[in-house]
Amino acid sequence: MARKYTILGLIGDGIAHEIVPEAVKVLRALDEVYNLNLEILGPYPFGAKYWLESRRKSSWHPEITRELIYEVDGIFKGPVGLPELLEDVKLNYEVGFLPVNLRSELDLYANIRPCKLRPGVKSPLNGKKPGDIDFVIVRENTEHCLAEATHFGGIRDISGYFERAGKIEFAADVYVQTPKGCKRVIEYAFELAYNRNGAPIDGRKRVTCTCKWGLLRGDTLFKRTFDEVSLKYPDIEADYTWIDGWAYRAIMKPEFYDVVVTPNQYGDIISDLAGAIQGSMGLAAALNAGDDHAFAEATHGSAPDIAGKNIANPLSLILSVGMLLEWMGEKRKDKNLKAAGRQVDRAVDLVLSEGKVRTPDLGGSSTTQQVGDAVVEKIKFAASN
Ligand code: NAD
Repeated sequence: MARKYTILGLIGDGIAHEIVPEAVKVLRALDEVYNLNLEILGPYPFGAKYWLESRRKSSWHPEITRELIYEVDGIFKGPVGLPELLEDVKLNYEVGFLPVNLRSELDLYANIRPCKLRPGVKSPLNGKKPGDIDFVIVRENTEHCLAEATHFGGIRDISGYFERAGKIEFAADVYVQTPKGCKRVIEYAFELAYNRNGAPIDGRKRVTCTCKWGLLRGDTLFKRTFDEVSLKYPDIEADYTWIDGWAYRAIMKPEFYDVVVTPNQYGDIISDLAGAIQGSMGLAAALNAGDDHAFAEATHGSAPDIAGKNIANPLSLILSVGMLLEWMGEKRKDKNLKAAGRQVDRAVDLVLSEGKVRTPDLGGSSTTQQVGDAVVEKIKFAASN
């Protein structure tokens, strides 16, 4: 009997209620077809609504202990966040920033966000076809503006609103970048490039460092660390561009990019740009990875504008759980698990290239469940042939 793998599911807010069950459906199909011996815990309620409903006692379901988060082989979660809480920084640290807390808690320093134009999908960029766009953003995940600041003791005390007579006089946010934080994520990016096929434009393995060095101190540290790490990888081209220039070049010539490594907040922003380039946020998958733990979550948020309508595209989260299985397979030296993870990517491409089943974000009229069912069908069909 193969060893058992335990995966913890967390639901989240908004469209999470529609897309999480589809990810579970796909995991169960893979379990059956590949005999993976998966145990899925939950998925448990999690996020802003749960926090409000539990009268702000906890964002965590009582079944989920701190130990459990460390013990499981992997985690997947739906997006969290309610628009009505967006303006309250204190609440956001407790609720909206839950994914950030989980990233810091488990030290998941690399957020891997592929941007790939898939068969049958139209990019808003004119004339681009599948194969023209295929890069990965590696976002530093535990530092910079969006990190859980308490990890750097005292920083949160420096950041804040300074008020007189109830009126904000000024607001301050401090960001931190450390040599260790820069080095490990940059090394991750080079290792990733080493195992990829290079940029679509010329087949060259390339890692692009993008931030605002020379102006911001933390970014200058990031760039200097990149210079040092790149010397260890002479076969991989080290490329540089300021973050504003990257935003321009990614639209004008996305085929130039292979792996792009960047500090936390820039990574957050350009990931949505990448979501648009690849045709929809509904295809934007992601994996938060560290040395020992990982959790899958789509790049996007809870999409309140379409929540409850059964039209959210579940492929973002389905692709993310595929990435998680591949990561687990690599870590646990389990080829079967790795193959199952890879199969998710192929099944999604098959569904998209046929073009019969697709949600409105991709120009179709299918429901969230119909897309999940179509992926399951492709997985089962591949196994029976
Ligand atoms: P969003 O990413 O939720 O939505 C942006 C746009 O993309 C919307 O038009 C939405 O309809 C569309 N979209 C997103 N996912 C889609 C899918 N699967 N299928 C089809 N269309 C999809 O961004 P927002 O509206 O700025 O944020 C909404 C909430 O999400 C906020 O409360 C925010 O804090 C939260 N958020 C959470 C995370 C996370 O949990 N990791 C990430 C980003 C935002």
